[in-house]
Amino acid sequence: MTYENSLEFAQKLDEQDELKHFRGEFLVPQYNGKDVTYLCGNSLGLQPKKVEQYLSAQLANWKDLAIEGWFHGDDPWLLYHQQMKKPLAEIVGAKTDEITIMNSLTVNLHLLLVSFYNPTKKRFKILMEGGAFPSDQYAIESQIRFHGFEPKDAIIEVFPRKGEYTLRTEDILEAIDENSNNLALVLFAGINYYTGQLFDMSAIAEAAHEAGAYVGFDLAHAIGNVPLKLHEWEADFAVWCSYKYLNSGPGGISGVFVHERYFNQDLKRFAGWWGYGVDKRFLMTQGFEPANGAEGWQVSTSPILLMTVHKAALDVFEKAGLEKLRKKSLLLTGYFEFLIKQINQKHNEELFMIITPAEPKWRGCQLSIICKRNGQAIFDHLAQNGVIGDWREPDVIRLSPVPLYNSFTDVFRASKLMDESLAALG
Ligand SMILES: *Cc1c(COP(=O)(O)O)cnc(C)c1O
Repeated sequence: MTYENSLEFAQKLDEQDELKHFRGEFLVPQYNGKDVTYLCGNSLGLQPKKVEQYLSAQLANWKDLAIEGWFHGDDPWLLYHQQMKKPLAEIVGAKTDEITIMNSLTVNLHLLLVSFYNPTKKRFKILMEGGAFPSDQYAIESQIRFHGFEPKDAIIEVFPRKGEYTLRTEDILEAIDENSNNLALVLFAGINYYTGQLFDMSAIAEAAHEAGAYVGFDLAHAIGNVPLKLHEWEADFAVWCSYKYLNSGPGGISGVFVHERYFNQDLKRFAGWWGYGVDKRFLMTQGFEPANGAEGWQVSTSPILLMTVHKAALDVFEKAGLEKLRKKSLLLTGYFEFLIKQINQKHNEELFMIITPAEPKWRGCQLSIICKRNGQAIFDHLAQNGVIGDWREPDVIRLSPVPLYNSFTDVFRASKLMDESLAALG
């Protein structure tokens, strides 16, 4: 598509957008009496309007049925999570048995590390992307210490080459290969939170297995953003959160994937009664027997109200469809990139340097932009004009047009304000 730098063109793309009515399914914060231009779905997705109605229905069940709600009513709570497994399995490219919904992301990472990180004197290293999300770093460091090793000996971080901002797949694969003698686990994000780089998970999984290591992915920024094929890629495990691109509310419920080849293996795990097969759970017998599939990793009673928000959000997501969303996303983020480059051209200087990969195949919605000058002031100018993004020290603005609720006019507006802020700041 040949883009044009004009409001009319942005409006034309909006008219042609077959997903445009989905914006009406969301509640948009107001600023000076108008909808904000919300480009922060990478941190917290907007609230689907249906959430309130879904929650009211479950509050009514609680009121009317109380304890009976677990077994009776339209949606017995005992099986409530199962309604979400089909849409989620499609979103992550898994079999329904390979996933379940539980806890929160970092907690799930710990639980799966219990199964997939059992270091020996020979194999104890974990390879990860340099500059991974802090919570993942803390989790990994604490797991390593828990097993009696030192993070400085056990963590291998792969960094971009000098003068580059994103990782080359060949460098990741080489680092895995070089450490094949003592690598226990490769843990990577699907998409790096800072740069927005989408990693080649298929290649990483293959290399990790060749090196004799397990491989796990943190999909916080990838789920609901880009197509995933966890089963086909042969990931061993994955974890994600639902409050970013899946719009399931602050601190919303997380999910996990465990590849089916581990179902009948006696992996170590931290157990709880909710991981016991549902048919025998309430016999309250001694001796834990895990349910077959990812549900065998469940620990605690389902948090039904969080799951209800998740269900409302997934119903909207499913109606739009991942394929159509990705198609629009490529166009929308591509348009934003085009507009930012136009600003640089106008000024004959790369004042906004996009560090997210230029190849659409290796990114999702998000663009991470280094501001050459006055970054904080530019960010403030955007905020004062109702454009919500986020700021990462020392000089990066992350802006993520989300195909479910953002428009081409939104990104046009944001780019105009970025341009305007340069003039205002001199
Ligand atoms: C958002 C995010 C988290 C947050 O973890 P919580 O346990 O949900 O607080 C962790 N890791 C990554 C990579 C993230 O992007």
